[in-house]
Amino acid sequence: MTNSRRVLVELAGVTKEYKVGEISTIALKNISFMIYERDLVAIMGPSGSGKTTLLNMLGLLDRPTQGKIFFEGRDVSKLSDKELAYLRNMKLGFVFQTFNLVNRLSVLENIEMPLIPRGIPRSVRFEMVKEAILKVGGEIEWLKKKPNQLSGGQQQRVAIARAIVGKPSIILADEPTGNLDRASARIVIETFLNLNKEGHSIIVVTHDPEVANCMERIYVIRDGMIIGQYNANPGDSLLSKVPRA
Ligand code: ADP
Ligand code: MG
Repeated sequence: MTNSRRVLVELAGVTKEYKVGEISTIALKNISFMIYERDLVAIMGPSGSGKTTLLNMLGLLDRPTQGKIFFEGRDVSKLSDKELAYLRNMKLGFVFQTFNLVNRLSVLENIEMPLIPRGIPRSVRFEMVKEAILKVGGEIEWLKKKPNQLSGGQQQRVAIARAIVGKPSIILADEPTGNLDRASARIVIETFLNLNKEGHSIIVVTHDPEVANCMERIYVIRDGMIIGQYNANPGDSLLSKVPRA
């Protein structure tokens, strides 16, 4: 099954070392990892194990200390910052634990942000934003509000709308349900599953085994190394345990 799908991102022997003054931390140790088309993957591991660093590598947000990253077969180290920014904008959507919405902008302005550098006209942007907010189960009503006038679960759906408005192939989410109640978490996960059915690859970093079990495959990372990979158990997932809101 996996083999018939196209590889979107490949990390080949990636090591990431952070240096702060005299202190060096090796956050990733010689990691090899692939994201395939239509992937539905969870990454689990204790705090400090390298999950965010791994997501930053997959999302082309940072460069490795050693090893290579290939994006759709192209060696990322050969790309300029401008080419990297273009790839990130076109192909990748990011979702964070704390939503990272801009409270002085309206929900509409938050969601359309990735479309601005593409030079898309305002009326087309508006149509794309409406499509995105409906796709995440949101309401057109929200668009004129400020993010902090919405509940946490609603804000995370706005953040997902921002991540998908530009139709990226991959969505990278860093503990997206970490600040949500269980019912809101369920809605966020259902949104990801629907997006996956439409063809997006979904990579979710989580502490929560019931969230991880909503995906297909689970990778376990510890001390900067991937120490296990197994199939999710849908019977022990948020979807099977938390009733629909
Ligand atoms: P996780 O997301 O699993 O909690 P991180 O990837 O954030 O782990 O961090 C992995 C390790 O790298 C930790 O020891 C952390 O302190 C260190 N680290 C992460 N980012 C930086 C940074 N920008 N500068 C220095 N050390 C960092
Ligand atoms: Mg983290």
